[in-house]
Amino acid sequence: MCGIIGYIGKKNAFPILLSGLKKLEYRGYDSFGFFILGKNNDFLLKKTGKISEYKNKSQKNIKGNLGIGHTRWATTGAVTDANAHPHFDCQKNIFVVHNGIIENYKKLKEKLISEGHKFSSETDSEVIAHLIEKHFQNNLEEAVRKTLKKLRGTYGIAVISKKDPEKLVAAKLGSPLLLGINHNEFLVASDPSAIVSHTRQVITLDDNEIAVISPNDFFILKEKPIEKIEWKIEEAEKKEFSHFMLKEIFEIPESIEKSIAGRIIPDKGLVKLGGLEEVLDRLKKIEKITLIGCGTAQHAAQVGEYMFEEYIGLPIKTEISSEFRYKKPILDEKTAVLAISQSGETADTLEAIKEAKRKKCLTLGIVNAVGSSIARETDAGVYNRIGPEIGVAATKSFISQLCILVLITVALGRQREMDLVTGKKILNELQKLPELAKKTLEQADKIKELAEKYSEYKNFFFLGRKYNYPIALEGALKLKEIAWKIHAEGMPAGEIKHGQLALIDENFPTVCLCPYDSVYDKMKNAIEEIKARKGLVIAITTEKNQEIKNLADDVIYIPKTLEMLTPILAAIPLHLFAAYLGLELGLDIDKPRNLAKSVTVE
Ligand code: GLU
Repeated sequence: MCGIIGYIGKKNAFPILLSGLKKLEYRGYDSFGFFILGKNNDFLLKKTGKISEYKNKSQKNIKGNLGIGHTRWATTGAVTDANAHPHFDCQKNIFVVHNGIIENYKKLKEKLISEGHKFSSETDSEVIAHLIEKHFQNNLEEAVRKTLKKLRGTYGIAVISKKDPEKLVAAKLGSPLLLGINHNEFLVASDPSAIVSHTRQVITLDDNEIAVISPNDFFILKEKPIEKIEWKIEEAEKKEFSHFMLKEIFEIPESIEKSIAGRIIPDKGLVKLGGLEEVLDRLKKIEKITLIGCGTAQHAAQVGEYMFEEYIGLPIKTEISSEFRYKKPILDEKTAVLAISQSGETADTLEAIKEAKRKKCLTLGIVNAVGSSIARETDAGVYNRIGPEIGVAATKSFISQLCILVLITVALGRQREMDLVTGKKILNELQKLPELAKKTLEQADKIKELAEKYSEYKNFFFLGRKYNYPIALEGALKLKEIAWKIHAEGMPAGEIKHGQLALIDENFPTVCLCPYDSVYDKMKNAIEEIKARKGLVIAITTEKNQEIKNLADDVIYIPKTLEMLTPILAAIPLHLFAAYLGLELGLDIDKPRNLAKSVTVE
């Protein structure tokens, strides 16, 4: 997510846009561009590289009082001149700059192409220009309004049309945008630094607002947020899968890609999280972090605790949202509270955030639903960007939450004690995960066979240690939710000898998470303790491990990766196992008993 600037007024727009964009250079970008609606000639430039290296000898001839500019940080499509913004429609009448990601752009693009539209870039953003073209009758804001209804994802946009030439239209959802007001001139920008030398009077646009600006005046339209799609309407979109849950598990590799796209600066071992930029200075001063969530999101929070503690070097705590606000947590302005919620509407988590705000904490969110209550209530945050999750049980959203926690670990770690080499290493391995997740999913048939084999058992334990202890909790929860005729419990493997071993016998299977990591030998001990009592063991371990094969009854392999990333791969077979067991028991895995997708009651 990079920079936008726009100008409408009496002055020559180009020098204002150029100097404004230069002020945004600090945010990092890979290409830039302008469109000026000229009195005689228009000017369009789309270019890779640095603005400072751009020399246009005929700059003086670029004349026009209305224009837009953009610095691009590529998320969709390579870094090329054609992919630089502004983007335009088939007739070159409509010009758009966009920050953010349009998640459903592929579908929109296919449809537009089938209707005869010609695309000239690989970006997600270009669909906006063509959709505006499609909806344009005689008024730009109306066409923009209709277009925004079709978009899913995040955007800050500024739009100009030659067919409605006295106007600049700007809108936002999830990406920052503000309107600067001066005498007979207006500016729009994604960041105040781009316009502060012209005006200090600004209006910060809210999500779903559309600013319609003419040289003398402006007004703001407010769109009501888009309603959530009902179950049955989506039914047709299961594709070749029998259930959304299975479809969404098989979407995990793509979800990982979407969660990290455009957010990694590999050679610097840094991450770029647009949603946290405004609070980066405050984050530097934070002295402790509390992670909160409910259900599966709370398990993600627990994995986050291990990641943060190992790499950020601050005291970290995880709390269950519904408990958090009824305790007397010691919080202050040096505490960050990070809330995790797929829907962004989880009532317990929302209330916990409000409590944290009352205590002056910095509040952050990891949320999938753009513009949801938690996204709006928190000071800053990171979107999952994985599209809707229809299955009630969280699967791809859990994996995405873990990936974003890795990104935040590096963001905050590199502000503190994490060195360049470690930052690079984590990010390199993170980028390999979509491939490794695909490999893990190749064992689906084997996991299905295991589900058949174990469907007669009434109880399961799930054991893990360190990074995979929360995954043991998650495996057990998923089994209870989806295959609810079976009882399951997850726990840290070191605890079984303090009580739970009493239940183990030949009728009691245990799923043991034991990838090669720093606690591998300890996990092996737990397996041996169970086997000594005739318990059945399904082990999840690193590929090629023969030792565990000789110990456990059944083995599922995951590819080798960094220790902190093993929970991301280990969760995949557990989600599949729960889904197949549920199906084996004749249950509807998309509509588990007594569960709702977003729990909006406390
Ligand atoms: N998703 C858009 C692209 O890849 C916009 C990126 C940005 O915010 O700079 O072109």
